[in-house]
Amino acid sequence: MARTKQTRHVTPASNETHCMLLETLPGALFVVDDDATIVYANARAQTMLGSTRGNVYGQPFWRCASRLVSPSLYQAVQRTRQTHEPTEVAYLSPATNLWLYASLSSTPQGLALLFQEHREPQPFYAENRAEQMYRDLLESFADGVTILTPDGLILDINQRPLLDAHLRREEVVGTPYTDLPAWSSDSDVQEHLRSAIVRASTGETVRFEAHIHPRADLDLDLLMTITSHRDANQQVEYLICAGRDITERKQAEDERRTLVDAIPQFVWIAEPDGSLTYNNRRLIDYLAITHEQAEGSGWLAGVHPDDRSCVWKMWQTSIRTGEPYEVEHRMQDGTSGVYRWFLVRGVPQRNAQGTILRWVGTCTDIEDQKRVEEALRQSQERANALMNSTIIGIFVTDDDQVVEANETYLRMTGYTRDDLRQGRINWVHMTPPEYAIQTQQARQELSVTYHVTRYEKEYICKDGSRLPVVVGGVALRLNPLQVMGFVLDNSAHKELEQRKDAFISMASHELKTPLTALKLQTTLLQRQLARQGIPASAPALSSMESQINKVTRLVGELLDVSKIQAGRLEYIREPVDLDALLQEVIDTLQQTNPSHTLVVHGAVQASLIGDPDRLGQVFINLISNAIKYSPDADTVKIDLSSSKDVLTVSICDHGLGIPREQHDKIFERFYRVSGSRQKAFPGLGMGLYIVSEIVKGHGGTITVDSTIGQGSTFTVTLPRTRDV
Ligand code: ADP
Repeated sequence: MARTKQTRHVTPASNETHCMLLETLPGALFVVDDDATIVYANARAQTMLGSTRGNVYGQPFWRCASRLVSPSLYQAVQRTRQTHEPTEVAYLSPATNLWLYASLSSTPQGLALLFQEHREPQPFYAENRAEQMYRDLLESFADGVTILTPDGLILDINQRPLLDAHLRREEVVGTPYTDLPAWSSDSDVQEHLRSAIVRASTGETVRFEAHIHPRADLDLDLLMTITSHRDANQQVEYLICAGRDITERKQAEDERRTLVDAIPQFVWIAEPDGSLTYNNRRLIDYLAITHEQAEGSGWLAGVHPDDRSCVWKMWQTSIRTGEPYEVEHRMQDGTSGVYRWFLVRGVPQRNAQGTILRWVGTCTDIEDQKRVEEALRQSQERANALMNSTIIGIFVTDDDQVVEANETYLRMTGYTRDDLRQGRINWVHMTPPEYAIQTQQARQELSVTYHVTRYEKEYICKDGSRLPVVVGGVALRLNPLQVMGFVLDNSAHKELEQRKDAFISMASHELKTPLTALKLQTTLLQRQLARQGIPASAPALSSMESQINKVTRLVGELLDVSKIQAGRLEYIREPVDLDALLQEVIDTLQQTNPSHTLVVHGAVQASLIGDPDRLGQVFINLISNAIKYSPDADTVKIDLSSSKDVLTVSICDHGLGIPREQHDKIFERFYRVSGSRQKAFPGLGMGLYIVSEIVKGHGGTITVDSTIGQGSTFTVTLPRTRDV
């Protein structure tokens, strides 16, 4: 009998049986679907998580099983999903510090994960060491390190961020990283992180700075770096998120920025390519634009149009060559529209390899400095123009030495520039002895008033010749005396004066001879007519004689002036009875001037040695002037007095008076007081000049005291025993 194949019917175990079986497993079993949602967890699994069935079903595994979660597990899950091959993984639970051994296998709905816990590492697992190292390493970082799924769920996190946030690991594992209070307290910061995670999940390394609040009373600045880990298929498996605490650096930077904003200079920072990335507050305020407007090359709009192309060219050159940038240009005050000058400097900051990292620069306001420079330049130009003057000789002396001189000065004096360099021009040596006193006085004046009133002198030139000059100057320094002097060649003027003097001298001599003859003839004629008894012609002849006398006196004065000029006015020396001399003069003048009464007060009662004719001339002149210039008055007072040393004669009238500022001038040659009233009186301005010369010649003085409209008093003093 043929054996027929028997088919054994096995009744499949019921679902319930399966479940019971699963419950008996020695480990904790989870079944999760493709979304990692827990669809099954056996009793041990529940116990391991410390929750009830109802609590875990339908929950996300990564969140719910936080004490089991680790990057190794996550990796294993991913691997099993891809390969559908069973996978085993051993790792140290960061939460319990127990070793976990997980066996993962693919199921139709998703994955089954079977966990076993051990206190000690199981010797047959190769990963033990690596896992231990991974954990130690993670905690050894000073930075906060978080491992994320590409979706941003926390797989692992070290203690640093947990401590900052006062959180426990279990509270955060499996939750979105962006939901940590540190990030969620500021929606902008949270959004920034979210997009950074999205970018990092594509494989990009993302770096950014963030200001976070791990808890209400803690602020931190972090430098975040998110990198991705790829699996064998180059798929991004998980993200490593490192947060470095840069709070201190940021604070220092903030302090620096505050400082930089506070300093009076403008500060800017540019990229190696020259585009501006930072301007301090002051620069922004000055330009009156926003940071954004100034960025790149926006700042160029604030540069003066005339300077713009040059500035741009120089900036480009510096960027190209790496040479420091330095340029002066005008920048517009955005508020007022006014341009001011700035000195703009930039230096490259390089790394250890010498590559330029950035340009750091400043702008310094040099408007005032520019103005001073401009003023200085102008004054220098003016000084140069003056120095180059072909009219004025200019020199500088240090003590007696001429140390600087312009060409005109050298030409005048005949010295060369080489003489000047060799110190061969000496101020004192150039001064003739007769000018020594005057020069000394000039020095005195300089040291008191810092300047010297112009005066006439002569220079001894290099070739020994004399050059008449007019000199003036200012003291640049007193001790030792440094003077800047100005010299005008006075020779043409002097020559003209000499010619004039020569003419006056000649003319007066030429006039004197025929006048003397005329006078003689008149006298003879007078006598003849008187003898012949023709008295009718007498008045005419006497008038002729008086006119001739007037002309004779004028010619005499002219002659005196020219003698004084030539230094040839001589005085005879004999005892003079001044009272008698004055009485004689007064008697004569009283006869010819009946309009005024000449009143004498006092007497000198002394004699002196002098020239009686010349002294007589002095008083005739003064009394004649007193009568002439007081047409409305009827007296002239003459006061005589004497002291131990001097005899004093004052002539006082009640006439026109002389303006104060002309009191000194009236004693100068040919000077006449200006003003129509005075001009109405005939005269040549020689009298007082001769008078003062004669008085000086007798060692005396003459002064005037006068008030306009009230009259004048001329006072002559003569030394009592003058040996002329
Ligand atoms: P002049 O020939 O012009 O009188 P003087 O040398 O005698 O020349 O006098 C100089 C000037 O001084 C005169 O032109 C006159 O203006 C003024 N002056 C001289 N004496 C008197 C005086 N007593 N009162 C007013 N002015 C006088």
